Amino acid sequence: METWQQALAKSITKPAELAKHLDVDPSAIADVVAEYPMRITPMWMKLIKEKGDAFWRQVVPEPEELTDDSPADDPLHEDLDSPVPHLVHRYPDRVLFMVTNQCPIYCRFCTRKRLVGKPGFLKQGELERVVHYLQAHTEVRDIILSGGDPLLLPDHLLERILKALRTVPHLELIRIGSRVPGSLPERITPELCAMIKQYHPIYMNLHFNHPDELTPEVKTACERLADAGVPLGAQTVLLKGVNDDPTVMMRLVHQLLLARVKPYYLYQADLTRGTNHLRTTVETGLEIIKTLQGHTSGMGVPHYVIDAPGGGGKIPLLPADYLVNLTPEQATLTNYEGKTYTYPQPEQPDGNGRRRELPMATVPSTSTGCSMADSMLG
Ligand SMILES: *Cc1c(COP(=O)(O)O)cnc(C)c1O
Repeated sequence: METWQQALAKSITKPAELAKHLDVDPSAIADVVAEYPMRITPMWMKLIKEKGDAFWRQVVPEPEELTDDSPADDPLHEDLDSPVPHLVHRYPDRVLFMVTNQCPIYCRFCTRKRLVGKPGFLKQGELERVVHYLQAHTEVRDIILSGGDPLLLPDHLLERILKALRTVPHLELIRIGSRVPGSLPERITPELCAMIKQYHPIYMNLHFNHPDELTPEVKTACERLADAGVPLGAQTVLLKGVNDDPTVMMRLVHQLLLARVKPYYLYQADLTRGTNHLRTTVETGLEIIKTLQGHTSGMGVPHYVIDAPGGGGKIPLLPADYLVNLTPEQATLTNYEGKTYTYPQPEQPDGNGRRRELPMATVPSTSTGCSMADSMLG
């Protein structure tokens, strides 16, 4: 039987090879590939059916990647939020740890386009530095392994990382972000699952953008991980010509739930240099969430977020219409069908036992505990 390393080795990485299979001009993309590497696994070569389809757009290099001069190459300022190499500590209680630069496929819209594909695992001593940092930072209870794709590491290197992290007593959760199940399903072996199981709680967020990425082999890979007790979430990037369409997104969330993967985030595309041709509008994202919310299983509705340019972190967006008005007396709401409802508030006495009088125009967001209200009023 073919190993996952053999399957990966059959991937297309050179423009001339690609031109044997697809209608591309190798000389037109050679410069692009020199700057931003290409890799297309056998599974993804099969997914591509015609020029410019949803799969082509995600992995086939375009000359536009080099002419896009507007945005930044590190739009999320990850380099600035890095206290030790490979670690990003932006939020109070969780960190991001980039453990490799290799990926099974090189997404043309990658946020870390400037880094991926360059050789090299963690250098001597770097894992130890990260562990020392974590030991000194008792507020960190959640770590996300990312990259690159952590599941491209061989089992023994991945296990070395997991084992080292599990020496940090206050570290509760380990999460792994990966596109491997959806691009190189051969990698999800029984041995990998058995190893991962020893370091629970381990969560995984898998990258999927289109319903047809959930092939029978991919579903089997997800099933193996779920059977190993790994709760699975999905992260999806909103992309022009790939999934910027409510019916495609509805099919995607249904396919994910069937594969025991819960849609977690829908990302507005980042402002990364070389990816501008794949961005779509915020209105499109809001429209998609509106089409899902209430119309299908709540389990299938992801959080729609923008990772704020400049390192502000993820900011959730909701179609504004659900909370029409909020006063100390009542909330006025609209449901998914557009019908209006009112929800009376509990009485809130002030320090003297009287009902608190609040000026109508300035409802403090802290009195609502409702993030939807915060985003509307704030
Ligand atoms: C996305 C992200 C996290 C994790 O965010 P959650 O909302 O907890 O999933 C942590 N650190 C960084 C730098 C991130 O970009």
